Amino acid sequence: MELFDVYSLFDVTPVKAQGCRVWDDKGQEYLDLYGGHAVISVGHSHPDYVKAISEQVSRIGFYSNSVRNPLQEELAHRLGEASGYPDYSLFLDNSGAESNENALKLASFHTGRDKVVAFRKSFHGRTSGAVAVTDNPNIISPFNAVHKVSFCDLNDIESVEKEVSAGDVAAVIIEGIQGCGGINIPDKSFMLQLRDICRKYGTMLILDEVQSGYGRTGKFFAHQWYGIRPDIITMGKGIANGFPCGGILISPEFKAVKGMLGTTFGGNYLAMAAAISVLKIMEKEDLVNNALATGNYLKSAIPASDIIKEVRGQGLMLGIEFREPVKEIRSRLLYEKHIFTGVSGSSTLRLLAPLCLSIAEAERFVEALKELI
Ligand code: PLP
Repeated sequence: MELFDVYSLFDVTPVKAQGCRVWDDKGQEYLDLYGGHAVISVGHSHPDYVKAISEQVSRIGFYSNSVRNPLQEELAHRLGEASGYPDYSLFLDNSGAESNENALKLASFHTGRDKVVAFRKSFHGRTSGAVAVTDNPNIISPFNAVHKVSFCDLNDIESVEKEVSAGDVAAVIIEGIQGCGGINIPDKSFMLQLRDICRKYGTMLILDEVQSGYGRTGKFFAHQWYGIRPDIITMGKGIANGFPCGGILISPEFKAVKGMLGTTFGGNYLAMAAAISVLKIMEKEDLVNNALATGNYLKSAIPASDIIKEVRGQGLMLGIEFREPVKEIRSRLLYEKHIFTGVSGSSTLRLLAPLCLSIAEAERFVEALKELI
């Protein structure tokens, strides 16, 4: 049997990883400034993380959500404290798309409405509702396209109000910082007005923090830079450092009804052991502040150049927009300088390093970039 061929692959086979470094099957070492697409938060194979999962699997690896699982309660407690949302509740699932799916469903249950407003250049995942609110016609099948979704431009508050004021919009969904769309940061004034408008018309505000959350931008969630509190916050990626896990934080205004949400694997013992150890390591190693400091260093050190248009982002969620296609430079960074980076569109290099990236490791990237440009 062959694999269903949907991924474009680099010719690299990682077999080992530690911290911000990865080794391939030929023993070549790479610096990881991409974290497997923003997933590696506390660093590859952190010893505390490895120990937590190993010990857990030797005790119990799985049972269903029909029995008590104190690890879920421990995660909820720790997450409430770490994120500044102790009064919200937690629903656990398995991925970013599933988190958005659950958030949209909950908003629709709560309001009794079926329309959603999303933004141009958004990415929210590939499952039914999540892909319908994603601004990329290439990945929306006719089956997905029947959802009732309107797209507005980021920062265009008038067009959002026009949509929402009709009174039939269940939710507005927006990324804390747009990731796949090119590291686009919404204006603070726009986010404050968006919060007010949603409240005024009884529309739920969903913040997709799957990529921008969990400390990546130097605050626990990117929306905390704007000083707003959404109705639902969605999470994935860094939450368990690579063990599949997702979740949503739900404001106290929502009432849980038995059976309204559910999943087989969500909140399983291994994901919980992984997610709890991630929060412990983040706290012990002060990784949210490290992301901010190293990100600030990178922003200031990336060289000015005729071919670089702009460096955007916050903390370790950075986009370097070039005036030309970035494919070649990304490929040379990988094959000549042995540095993993990501991309948005055709001209933005995207950096999503593990939150433990050191200044010395960031310097290695800056030097490599200088040599290449
Ligand atoms: N939301 C955002 C902002 C993302 O960047 C992604 C993935 O890149 C998702 C949702 C989907 O997450 P997953 O691939 O875990 O389903």
